[in-house]
Amino acid sequence: MQLNKNRVRVIGAGLAGCEAAFQMARFGVQVDLYEMKPKKRTPAQVSDHFAELVCSNSFRSNNPLNAVGLIKEEMRRAGGFLIACAEEAKVPAGDALAVDREQFAKVVQSRLLADPNIRIISEEVGELFNDDIATIVATGPLTSDALALDIAKIIGQERLAFYDAIAPIIDADSVDMEHAFFASRWGKGEGDDYLNCPMTEIEYGQFFQALISADQAHAKAFENLHYFEGCLPIEELASRGEKTLLFGPLKPVGLHHPVTGLRAHAVLQLRKENIHGTAYNLVGCQTRMKQPAQKAVFAEIPALKNAQFLRFGAIHRNTYLDAPSILDEASRLKTNNGQYQNIFFAGQITGVEGYVESMASGLIVAKLLQTILQQKQLNPPPEYTALGGLYRHTRGSLKANPKDRYVPSNVTWAMLPPIANQDRRLGKDAKRQMLVERALGDLQQWLLS
Ligand SMILES: Cc1cc2nc3c(=O)[nH]c(=O)nc-3n(C[C@H](O)[C@H](O)[C@H](O)COP(=O)(O)OP(=O)(O)OC[C@H]3O[C@@H](n4cnc5c(N)ncnc54)[C@H](O)[C@@H]3O)c2cc1C
Repeated sequence: MQLNKNRVRVIGAGLAGCEAAFQMARFGVQVDLYEMKPKKRTPAQVSDHFAELVCSNSFRSNNPLNAVGLIKEEMRRAGGFLIACAEEAKVPAGDALAVDREQFAKVVQSRLLADPNIRIISEEVGELFNDDIATIVATGPLTSDALALDIAKIIGQERLAFYDAIAPIIDADSVDMEHAFFASRWGKGEGDDYLNCPMTEIEYGQFFQALISADQAHAKAFENLHYFEGCLPIEELASRGEKTLLFGPLKPVGLHHPVTGLRAHAVLQLRKENIHGTAYNLVGCQTRMKQPAQKAVFAEIPALKNAQFLRFGAIHRNTYLDAPSILDEASRLKTNNGQYQNIFFAGQITGVEGYVESMASGLIVAKLLQTILQQKQLNPPPEYTALGGLYRHTRGSLKANPKDRYVPSNVTWAMLPPIANQDRRLGKDAKRQMLVERALGDLQQWLLS
C-alpha cells in the first residue's frame, strides 16, 4: 500500500499525541488530530483540555544529573513542543519542573488550534484505520475500550496488556556485596545469573514487620485490581502469613552460600535488568507500596541497606503493547498480510511510563515518521542519549535476556550504556556528569545529521 506523503493522522490529544501532531505539522504535512474529548473521557480525566495531566502537576526532576532531567534537556535541544509549553506554564518546584496544569493545557491547546496544518476531529476512534495515511496511535494507558479491543483483535490478545505489575529496579553498584552472593537456584544456569540477598531469621522478621505495616498507594476506583495469582504484590502475599514469602519469592531452597555452604532463612534474588549489567530487578517484588516505604522496607535486607532505586515498583491500570514483538524500528505495526501497514504507535501505549517519557516518545516517533515520508534512512536517536535509551527500551534491546517479559518503564540511567573503563572510585555525580556530557554531545551530532 502506498503512503500518502502529505497527510497524517494522530489519535489521542494527550502528551504523546500533542507532541507528535505539532512536530508533524511543523514538518509541513496536514495533520488530522482525533480526540474523543469532550464527548467522552477516560476514567482518570477530569477536564476537556488536551495534554491533561491526570495526577501530579510535576514533570519530575529538571536536573540533568537525573535521567528524567537529561531527557528534558535533550527534548529542549531537539525542538520539543510540550517541554517548551511546560516552561511557559511552570510554577516554582525546587529541583523539579512543575506546571500550572490549566495553564499548560491552555498553552498546548491554543497552539494546536491555531496551527493551519492541524485539523481537530472530536471523535472517538473505534477501529484502526487501514489505508494509505500514516496514523500515529497515541491513546495512552486508558485507551478507550472499543479501540483497545480492535487493537487486541489485530495483534492478538496476548500482546496487549491492561495492567502493569512492576518490581523495583536498583543500581547494581549500590548492592552491598559483603552481604550478597552470586548463585542460581540448584546451580542451574550461569553462575552469575542471580545475585542473592540472604536474611537470617531475625532479619527476615524485621523485614516482614516493615512490609506488612508499610504505606500503600491507594488504587483509583477504576483500578480495582483482580490480581493474577502469579503476579501478586509482595505485600499481598505477606498478608497471608509470615511463612508465605518463604515458599514464594523469598524461598531459600537450593541457594547455598558459595563460601560457607550455609542456607539462609530467606533469600531475595536480584536478576540483571539490562544488557549493561548496571541494574538489578528485585525478583517477585511487584508492589503497591508508596515509594518512601519501598526504600525503607527493602533497606531491612542487609545487602540492600544502601540500595539506590532506579525505578520504583508499581501496579496500576495501563494499556500497553508488547512493543518489541509487534512494532518495527519505526514504531510501526509489523504486518504480515499487507493490512494496517501505516499504523504507528507512540506514548505510554508503547511501554514508556510517565508524562515526560510519553512526550519524548511522541517526539521520537514523529521524527521517525518524518524520515519515512522523506524516503530517507531511519535515524533513531543514538544509544548514548536518554532519548535513544528510551527508544531502545521500546525495541526490547535493553532486556538482559530477550525472553524476559516486556514491562513498561520510566527513563532511567539503566537505559544508557556505562562509560567504558571508568574509574570505579568516581562518585555517583561524577559518573553521571560524564554520562550527561556524552549524551548531549551525541545528541548534537544526531541533530546535525
Ligand atoms: C490514574 C493515572 C495517574 C497517573 N499519574 C501520573 C503522574 O502523576 N505522573 C506521570 O508522569 N505519569 C502519570 N500517569 C501516566 C500518564 O498518564 C501517562 O504517562 C501520560 O499521560 C501518557 O501520555 P499519552 O500521551 O501516552 O496518553 P494520554 O495522555 O492518556 O493521552 C491519550 C489521549 O487519547 C485519548 N483517547 C483515548 N482513546 C481514544 C480513542 N479511541 N479515540 C480518540 N481519543 C482517544 C484520551 O482522551 C487522551 O486524551 C498516570 C496515569 C494514570 C492512568
